[in-house]
Amino acid sequence: MTQELHIVGGGMAGSEAAWQAANMGVRVVIHEMRPKVETFAHQTGNLGEMVCSNSFRSDDDEQNAVGLLHWEMMQAGGLIMRTAHAHRLPAGGALAVDREAFAEAVTAALHAHPNVRISYDEVTDLPDQGTWIFATGPLTSPDLGAAIQQETGTDRLAFFDAIAPIVYADSIDMSTAWLQSRYDKGETEEEQKAYINCPMTKDQYEAFIDALLAADKTEFHEGETAGYFDGCLPIEVMAERGRETLRHGPMKPVGLTNPHAPDVKPWAVVQLRRDNALGTLYNIVGFQTKMKYGAQTAVFKMIPGLQDAGFARLGGIHRNTFLNSPTLLDAQMRLRSKPNIRFAGQVTGVEGYVESAAMGLLAGRMAAAELTGAPLPEVPQDTAHGALIHHITGGAEAKTFQPMNVNFGLFRPVDGLKGGRRGRKDRYKAYTDRAKAAWSDWLAQQRLDGAAAE
Ligand SMILES: Cc1cc2nc3c(=O)[nH]c(=O)nc-3n(C[C@H](O)[C@H](O)[C@H](O)COP(=O)(O)OP(=O)(O)OC[C@H]3O[C@@H](n4cnc5c(N)ncnc54)[C@H](O)[C@@H]3O)c2cc1C
Repeated sequence: MTQELHIVGGGMAGSEAAWQAANMGVRVVIHEMRPKVETFAHQTGNLGEMVCSNSFRSDDDEQNAVGLLHWEMMQAGGLIMRTAHAHRLPAGGALAVDREAFAEAVTAALHAHPNVRISYDEVTDLPDQGTWIFATGPLTSPDLGAAIQQETGTDRLAFFDAIAPIVYADSIDMSTAWLQSRYDKGETEEEQKAYINCPMTKDQYEAFIDALLAADKTEFHEGETAGYFDGCLPIEVMAERGRETLRHGPMKPVGLTNPHAPDVKPWAVVQLRRDNALGTLYNIVGFQTKMKYGAQTAVFKMIPGLQDAGFARLGGIHRNTFLNSPTLLDAQMRLRSKPNIRFAGQVTGVEGYVESAAMGLLAGRMAAAELTGAPLPEVPQDTAHGALIHHITGGAEAKTFQPMNVNFGLFRPVDGLKGGRRGRKDRYKAYTDRAKAAWSDWLAQQRLDGAAAE
């Protein structure tokens, strides 16, 4: 008999991890602290509870990276996707569900599984013995958060995200913007050209500040604290403190020369910094924001050079416990300093129900393979699951690591296809076709290995 797998947290990731491992023949114990210990966002003691929206976003598996993740999870017999489809509500191209029926069905399926036991208790330390997956989510309990910090160091576990918008590099107009680090700092040409700069005239800056001040903003949820504010002010709050604040802060125009107009000194400059090793994504430096999504798109497109920008993700600030995964986790999501422990879900620095469940799916399979001694082929990087796990465990910039949702900017380019907006449809179809083939092969390989082992 193989050892038990302990999974802490029965949310999106923990439920999916348990389902996958149990179906691979491993006995699983889920430790869920609710309803004994509550969070400010969960309302029930159900597993797989959706804390806010009832949508799993786009179900388009040809043109959308989230839809592709849905497809891959369905092919892998995923509990979260299977149950979502069973409780689907009409919502156009989105996969929206009846949230109560959904969570009750996830809970019932796990209760009924002969290999799963559910223990309603809070886990407050990282055990030295046994095989564990921690999938405790953005609202990881404070005692466990403290134990994780003790193991990883205080600067490696964040309690808020402060996400600046992330833009697809190929949607930036480089006939307006230019590559340059402030004062050309750096030893190599790559370092001296590490930023993309977007210049503003005085009129453009004033109009931008007006738009920032007028934009719709979201409020913090009750129970979220605004105590983070000192470290990372939202740009609209900086603008409220004075019209010149941004020009002396993240938008200061010093140390930069616009090669398109070398004699004109910009009044302000917006800088974008590379966000992944592939160089396909750039974040707008210092632009964390609480503006509503619609307002963000309108306001950020006022920035010269970003008028046609495609956003891989918009900005936000939320209560969110997450690890600096690129430095702490290995490619199998094991804690480097304690490899009997894996992390999965939002706590690893992915963002969203679907992405969290997907990382649970991988962690469950990886842990089960380890326990049963069956080999697990490497997750192909050109799949949606592979692009995400590769990003969080290595592809992302560790220094500026912030939670990421799945998007095509995380995918390796397909050779021979046109960049820019025009070629987008063909490009996305090529990504999803390539991913589907690679994912199907990966699953087939595991079925073959499983059959050979029997
Ligand atoms: C306020 C809020 C709103 C959000 N809205 C959305 C949204 O609309 N759409 C979206 O896609 N994403 C949203 N998210 C992000 C969302 O939480 C994640 O996408 C998803 O739920 C993460 O899945 P998870 O399994 O990692 O964590 P969760 O689903 O949160 O599951 C973690 C589980 O671990 C349990 N737990 C925590 N600590 C312990 C412990 N020490 N011992 C035992 N159990 C523990 C918790 O009770 C919980 O059940 C929101 C997050 C927050 C905080």
